[in-house]
Amino acid sequence: MKENHHSTHWACFDCRKSFAKTESETARKCPECARAMTDMGAFFEPPRKLNVKRWAIMKILADYDYRFNTKDSFIYIQNRILQAKNPRAADVIERIELEKQLKQNDD
Ligand SMILES: [Zn+2]
Repeated sequence: MKENHHSTHWACFDCRKSFAKTESETARKCPECARAMTDMGAFFEPPRKLNVKRWAIMKILADYDYRFNTKDSFIYIQNRILQAKNPRAADVIERIELEKQLKQNDD
């Protein structure tokens, strides 16, 4: 039976694992290492555990408060921030900084 709460993807960047659980006001703890996990959103696509580079990119997104809460945010992040299939971390950070400047100029 499905719960009435929204399901989302909680990521543990230490274990490089993601768990589908309901949203929570407080950070859920990783079932494996007990560290606080990050709610990356319902549309987060967790990389494979061995894809260390991709997990590093996802950690950068998390640190800059990017989340995959909607299909639109997924498309935005993919098209504007990641762009390539295997983007370099430096390029991703550069594009995030550029997006920040664009947003500031809108004000
Ligand atoms: Zn963990």
